[in-house]
Amino acid sequence: MSTATLHGQMAAPGYASGPAHCYTFPDLLEDPGELPEDASTLAECGRLEAGLAEAEQILMQHYRDLYAAERDEEAEIFLALAALVQDRSFVRLAEGLITDTGITAEHAAIIAADHEADLLEELPDEQLRLRGGDMRELGRLVMRVLRGETNPWQGLTHPAIIVAPDLGPSELMSLPREHVLGIALAAGGIHSHVAILARSLGIPMLVGLGDTLLEHVQPDMPLALDGTTGQLLLNPSAAEQAAMHERNAQAVAREAALRNDIALPTVTSDGHVIRLMANVANAQEAQRAQEWGAAGVGLLRSELLCAEASFWPTEAQQLALYQAVSAALPDQPITIRTFDIGGDKRFDFMRYLNAPALTQPTRRNKKGKTVAPAPPAGPNLRISEANPALGWRGLRLALSHPELVLLPQLRAILRLGAGADVRILLPMVTNLAELQQARALLEQAQQELASANLPHARQVQLGIMIEVPAAALNSASLAPHADFFAIGTNDLTQYTLACDRNNSHVAALYQPFDPALLRLIEMACSSVHPYGRSVSLCGDLSSDPRATALLIGLGVDTLSCTPAALPHVRAAIRATNYQQARALARHALNAPSAQAVLALLAP
Ligand code: PEP
Ligand code: MG
Repeated sequence: MSTATLHGQMAAPGYASGPAHCYTFPDLLEDPGELPEDASTLAECGRLEAGLAEAEQILMQHYRDLYAAERDEEAEIFLALAALVQDRSFVRLAEGLITDTGITAEHAAIIAADHEADLLEELPDEQLRLRGGDMRELGRLVMRVLRGETNPWQGLTHPAIIVAPDLGPSELMSLPREHVLGIALAAGGIHSHVAILARSLGIPMLVGLGDTLLEHVQPDMPLALDGTTGQLLLNPSAAEQAAMHERNAQAVAREAALRNDIALPTVTSDGHVIRLMANVANAQEAQRAQEWGAAGVGLLRSELLCAEASFWPTEAQQLALYQAVSAALPDQPITIRTFDIGGDKRFDFMRYLNAPALTQPTRRNKKGKTVAPAPPAGPNLRISEANPALGWRGLRLALSHPELVLLPQLRAILRLGAGADVRILLPMVTNLAELQQARALLEQAQQELASANLPHARQVQLGIMIEVPAAALNSASLAPHADFFAIGTNDLTQYTLACDRNNSHVAALYQPFDPALLRLIEMACSSVHPYGRSVSLCGDLSSDPRATALLIGLGVDTLSCTPAALPHVRAAIRATNYQQARALARHALNAPSAQAVLALLAP
């Protein structure tokens, strides 16, 4: 028996067994890094600048190597990291630390990067939070460069499982591949850049194993890492290793079988057709959706597509981004959700919404096109609201500034529609008046494009998200006015159960399988079907194959899930019997709790 088993999250699949190689971060306490009294802080700032420039060179070299190998997605990671070197608040803070506190450039880089990372990690948006890890790695990279230690893996001389507090993309890229069996991290997330790279390099990786990992694992301790269950066994027995190996071989075979099924129709065993689409946030995900046989994009989160923008994305910039997504899935419908920003979704480009900027009139350029006002100086927008989730977000925010927010976006989508099958989806709709205002703006956008002689779609379907319980309860009166419906169970769960989706203190209450949610889903489906409207479900619940039969039984017509879930949901649809799913849904609607619903579902 192993001496201990640790549980983490699977960031990259696979199985590995071998001795541990423990990687540690520089410990600032051991060496406070004070400059000698007579040292020049100006010269030290110069060292910092040189260190930053060299770090940028290293990152750009990784970018060029990956780009040359046609691994564009991974290459982009290093481009984004290189951009962090120019991050003004990071550089200014590091320089200020040198001049004000008299510490070395190495220490200033680490402290400033950690401070910036702390700020990023406080943000509610997961994509931005995960950039905190990249920022910390930048600090370590600059420190190593300044110390002349460009190879962090000098002690790694034989094949091993890397054990570390966390890793950054450039640390991973500089690993000697022949000596890496797997990676086990105390921190990290499955959507982090380093996880994306590990998946693409085929290195099995577990993240989130906690500090116990660092406390218990000694250098050269035998380990076995199981990518299918998220387990890390310390000192495994031969029998445990054999069992783990067998489980992984089966998982690999299952994955290969699913891959063979991508062309099979998404139809239940008794002939009920379900549309299987994908939720995507960028062209790479759209590409993956295409590879896994999605029947189009059921939800393009346009705010995530533009998340990296520092200025409000113009109509032309948006069009280019939408075209890139659409090109990945030619001839398939693309459902573009208009910006769902505000509340827990804050982005840099939202600083245009700062109050002073809004008092400036929107400008028109020489061609008469509306352009965003000049960016206000100062930090990112901090909308101060007592209850952001109940406040100024989604369609509410878009309708309050149509010239800046909604009209340019609608025009960009309509222009994409000249050559692609597009549908428009409105987030956070609460009542009919909002939908009618949005439709009037859609007509205005069409007229503006017609007057400017720009090719655009004349007929585009306009649908609404059901995320607010009122929209589900009033779905019968909304049905004649919306062309289609998409249920967002992530928000519908938080609003129905009065439970913040990002607050770990109430995580136990956040139960998408709660019968209250199921009733709202059933009500929406049965209210809008008589009007010939279809209902898709695009919250995270659609990516859980346990829920597939239940959702079909409740009346959902389309499931839109993450690209990675597509093969599993396809298999679950094909394993469902529609008549039995209807009966299952009836039982679930009458169940007393989420746990009772889960007990009804196939494992
Ligand atoms: C939802 O709320 O279920 C949804 C799909 O929207 P988001 O997760 O982007 O808020
Ligand atoms: Mg939502």
